[in-house]
Amino acid sequence: MFENMLAGEKSLQIWMAAFVVAGLIAGIATGFFKARKIQPNGFKWKTFRNEGIFTVINIATAGTFLGWSTGWLTTNNLLVLQKTQVSWWVVALEFALYFFLFDTWFYWLHRWMHKEPVYSWVHKLHHRSTSPNLLTTASVNPLESLVNGGFVPLFLTVMTLISPIHEQSMALIGPTNVIMGLYVHSGYEFFPRWWNKTWLTKWFITSTFHDQHHKYFTINFGGYTTIWDRLCGTMRPKFESDYLKIKDRTRPEPTMEPAE
Ligand SMILES: [Zn+2]
Repeated sequence: MFENMLAGEKSLQIWMAAFVVAGLIAGIATGFFKARKIQPNGFKWKTFRNEGIFTVINIATAGTFLGWSTGWLTTNNLLVLQKTQVSWWVVALEFALYFFLFDTWFYWLHRWMHKEPVYSWVHKLHHRSTSPNLLTTASVNPLESLVNGGFVPLFLTVMTLISPIHEQSMALIGPTNVIMGLYVHSGYEFFPRWWNKTWLTKWFITSTFHDQHHKYFTINFGGYTTIWDRLCGTMRPKFESDYLKIKDRTRPEPTMEPAE
C-alpha cells in the first residue's frame, strides 16, 4: 500500500515535470516568451556567468548563516510557530501583516542602500545586471541578503512575543518570498494589460516595475507594492506607458484588408 502511494507520487512528479518542460518548449516555439521579454536585447553571457558565481557565494555564506540562526532561535524557543487549527481569516491577516511590513522594510532599506558609500560597498553587486534574469535574484552581496532575508526570522521572533504566527500562514509566507523574488527578476512580463489601470491591482508590482529599477537605478524601489513609490514620488513617470508598450508586442500584427 505504502509502496503503491510512493510510486503514485513519483509518477505524478514525473508527469508534472513533463508538463512544465512541454510548456517551456511550446512557449519558446510559439514565441510566447520572446514577445513578453521586457528588454529584448538585454541578456549578456558574461554578466550571467558572474551572477552564477555570486549566487553560489551568497547562498553558501548568508544562506548558511540565516539557516543556522533561524534554527538556533527555534531550538531556544525564541522563534515559535503556532501549530494549532486556525480560521482562514487569521491566516489572511497574518499574511497581510507580513506582506505590508516586509514591503515597508524593503522599500526604506533599499533606498538607503542606494546612497553612498553603502551603494558601492554593498548594493552595487546586485545591480551589475541592468536587464535581470532568474539568477539576478540571488546574485546579491551576502550583507544585503542578511538585511532582506533576515526579515522573516526577525518578524517571526518579534511575533513570538506578541502573538506567534501560525504554521499555516508560514506555508504562504515562505513561498511568496521566493516566488516574488524570482518573478520580479525573471525579465519577462506575464501580467495583463489592464494591471496598472484598476484601483485594486495597480498597487502591486509586476516584473516590469522591478526590471525598470535595474535599468534606470533611481526609481521603483518597492519590493511587493507600488505604495511607497507612489507616496514618495519615486515611481518612474513613464512606468505605465512603458508597460503598455511591452504588452503591445504580445498582440498580433494587424492584417491588411485585401483590396477589392
Ligand atoms: Zn536597487
